[in-house]
Amino acid sequence: MTIPNGEPMVSAVRENFNMKYDVIIGLEIHAELKTKSKMFCSCNNDSEGKEPNTTVCPICLGHPGTLPVPNKQAIDWTILTGLALHCKINRLSKFDRKNYFYPDLPKGYQISQYDQPLAYDGYLEINGEKIAITRIHLEEDTGKSMHFKDQDYTLLDFNRAGTPLMELVTEPVIKNAEEAKKFCQAYQQILRYLHISDANMEKGEMRCEANISLQKPGTWKYEPGQILPHKKGGKLNAKVEVKNINSFRAVEKAILFEIERQTALLNQGEKIAPETRGWDENSAATYSQRTKETSADYRYFPEPDIPPLKIDDDLLAKLHEKLPEMPDTKRQRFIREYSFPKDMADILVNDRDLAAWTEEVISELDAWIEANGDEEERQEKKLAKSAGNWITSELLKHLRADDKNISDLKITAENFAELVCLIYQGKVNSSAGQKILEKMYWEGGNPTDIMRELGLEQLDNEGELEEAVKKIIARNQTQLGQYRQGKTNVFQFFVGQVMAETKGKANPKIVKEILEKLLK
Ligand SMILES: [Zn+2]
Repeated sequence: MTIPNGEPMVSAVRENFNMKYDVIIGLEIHAELKTKSKMFCSCNNDSEGKEPNTTVCPICLGHPGTLPVPNKQAIDWTILTGLALHCKINRLSKFDRKNYFYPDLPKGYQISQYDQPLAYDGYLEINGEKIAITRIHLEEDTGKSMHFKDQDYTLLDFNRAGTPLMELVTEPVIKNAEEAKKFCQAYQQILRYLHISDANMEKGEMRCEANISLQKPGTWKYEPGQILPHKKGGKLNAKVEVKNINSFRAVEKAILFEIERQTALLNQGEKIAPETRGWDENSAATYSQRTKETSADYRYFPEPDIPPLKIDDDLLAKLHEKLPEMPDTKRQRFIREYSFPKDMADILVNDRDLAAWTEEVISELDAWIEANGDEEERQEKKLAKSAGNWITSELLKHLRADDKNISDLKITAENFAELVCLIYQGKVNSSAGQKILEKMYWEGGNPTDIMRELGLEQLDNEGELEEAVKKIIARNQTQLGQYRQGKTNVFQFFVGQVMAETKGKANPKIVKEILEKLLK
């Protein structure tokens, strides 16, 4: 065995070699908000594909004498996120200066929020457990440093400087790597539902830092408001902060790596250094970056250029109204109202636009039932489920293969509902339905027209089908004999033969009825 830092495990194995520790994880997640303008100036906040240092102005470049003006949209969206995550909202909030020196920070300080964040004390439910959220606050993003291999200089791009950045901090209550990953995924889904951030981790629109510490079982018990142990010398083991995590998989892998690394060190009697480590995707390992600053190092003080923010009842009421149905609630409703299996509901709810489109299809189906309706309730659920099936299996298959979203779709909800009805009524069978869907996917159009155009209309003329069945029976006397001697599973063979004879267009239900009559 090798300790993750590369040194071979010493042979003098200690008594507590196999000791297991309590894992304590807290997350800090930054998300870039997709407001039109930046956090404190009117610069374009969308710099994707733009030349470096072209979406900048004296304010976001930190020139002396400029004054920041907070972005109202970013403040509203942060409160909205707080409401979505069951947070309390600070009625009096303010911005603070966080002082540190780094080349990508033009002012020499970052405007952030210290002791009066916009939102605090909330939770997000993961696998039925409420993961406590300490706070959600707003700050500004930094620029980007660009280092080049074999070059002795660094280039700076300030396009990103001043982008509104929302930071969420959890309590140290996450117990394992998988739970941490699920938290990040669920949070991303909520940000996307709110349409406030694309939260793509690979693009750095959402960035996750994990604080990890290992304690001997029973030595540390979580109490609200407690921070992860980070001091040297105490009885508790220090925490390690891991940065540069840029995918959900990396969240899980980096935490698993740290647990293994820290366990090995502790079992050798080593102390854990309180430090910041980076995650290196290529070597699948964390590496030491620097020893940990405490918050005192940042010399926080209230931002003198921005007056405190008063959040009144009116604003809160307005934002409450804007809050869409959240993924969890929607999932439960889909299962209840449409009898969707959980897996299907998960897929459909994953994307808010897809969920909305699905409901449009179902409402078209309801209208159809209303017009043609008998056995209303039963049909409604059956049709909804059939629609769900066709969306999750067939339609998404096309979208994925084509790398497209539901918003790119050429098929209207009305036409899709009609296709589901054609199949439900037996006007086309399932394989013809797939052919029609494929044509609709590429060209749009009405499924009934496409059905006629491609000659896929299901054959349900009983006279014609009876002729076909008789032909098949005459051709397969051996099987007929077997069937009559009691080998009833030969029945399916006959169905298959008739379907082949009619090039897949026969109505299987009618074929079965005729076969039952003629095989006796
Ligand atoms: Zn600017």
